[in-house]
Amino acid sequence: MNEHGFDVSSAETVNEKCLNCGSNLLFDPETQKLKCPHCETLVDFEKSSNVLENDIREFLNGNQTWNTESVVYRCENCGASLVLAPNQTAASCPYCGASHVVKSEEEAGLKPGAVYPFTITSEVASNFAKTWAKKRLFAPSRFKKDLVTDKFKGVYQPSYTFDSNTYSTYYGRVGVRHTRTVGSGKNRRTETYIVWRNISGDYSHFFDDVTVNSDDIEFQSTINKLLPFNYNSIKVYDTEYLTGYMAKRSNRTVKDCWGDAKSMMDASLRSLILSRHRHDVVDFLNVSTSHQNVTFKYVLLPVYVSNFKYKKKDYKVFVNGNTGKVTGKTPVSPWRVLIAVILGLAIVALLGYLFYSNS
Ligand SMILES: [Zn+2]
Ligand SMILES: [Zn+2]
Repeated sequence: MNEHGFDVSSAETVNEKCLNCGSNLLFDPETQKLKCPHCETLVDFEKSSNVLENDIREFLNGNQTWNTESVVYRCENCGASLVLAPNQTAASCPYCGASHVVKSEEEAGLKPGAVYPFTITSEVASNFAKTWAKKRLFAPSRFKKDLVTDKFKGVYQPSYTFDSNTYSTYYGRVGVRHTRTVGSGKNRRTETYIVWRNISGDYSHFFDDVTVNSDDIEFQSTINKLLPFNYNSIKVYDTEYLTGYMAKRSNRTVKDCWGDAKSMMDASLRSLILSRHRHDVVDFLNVSTSHQNVTFKYVLLPVYVSNFKYKKKDYKVFVNGNTGKVTGKTPVSPWRVLIAVILGLAIVALLGYLFYSNS
């Protein structure tokens, strides 16, 4: 019971059983309904697109925890912490494939405010990954064959998205390259010189949904490659969306992520400001920015993950659960590289032969 007298755990209608056969219903990306994995009965649930932005100044107040309507599992092999809907279990870790995934005492933390529901199935995701892998010439064929539907697990990535109205003042010095001809006779030559000028001004810019991954700072570059998600499909978070999926547990605070978001905004402000002034080189640029009406959302992003072991190393492929965009590292097959080198040498030899036999 919480202070309002509600029993939080039973107020949620999580994991409704199929009325036809009694199985646990799972979220279905194709119909956006709950679906029975056995008899395919569909059950709709209430969805809301009315996602509210949270004022950053109030982020410490009134945060709802996710703990009563989720359970945390931990992979004993790679350490990944995964949040699942109650009564669901993780058979294997989506990041390393290990089956030592055990219930953890950790808490799930802040409850997400919003979610981009998965809109493609793991089958569609694996097809996107196969097409992507075909273009990776040096990837071993065993890797390409292993991108099967069963290995693509849907994991929601926790992230904070920030909006901010920025106002910046700046001053700096930029230069443009010019050329001139100097000297005469044998010493006549062209040289490059730079004309410097001072710049200053002010700049206003509204940032919408700057996305910062909140489980692991190293995953940010992967998220950047998977962006964007279907911003039109955003929904108020509800546990139904989690059924049949997992969510990575968030490790970072709003404050830390806001720090990252500000650095990302600073970097794009610098290039936006510089793009207003013709320049080839920058001596220095000093920007001072104030942020107004900063809001954020704690949102889950849909990502399919598949893992692959090659020579004792782990490789992961990620697919955007809305658009099918793929990123990841592939192992390199030494045989394929060797064959490419031999083919390359053969072509050089053949060209050499043709050249000399013609001349
Ligand atoms: Zn059923
Ligand atoms: Zn693992």
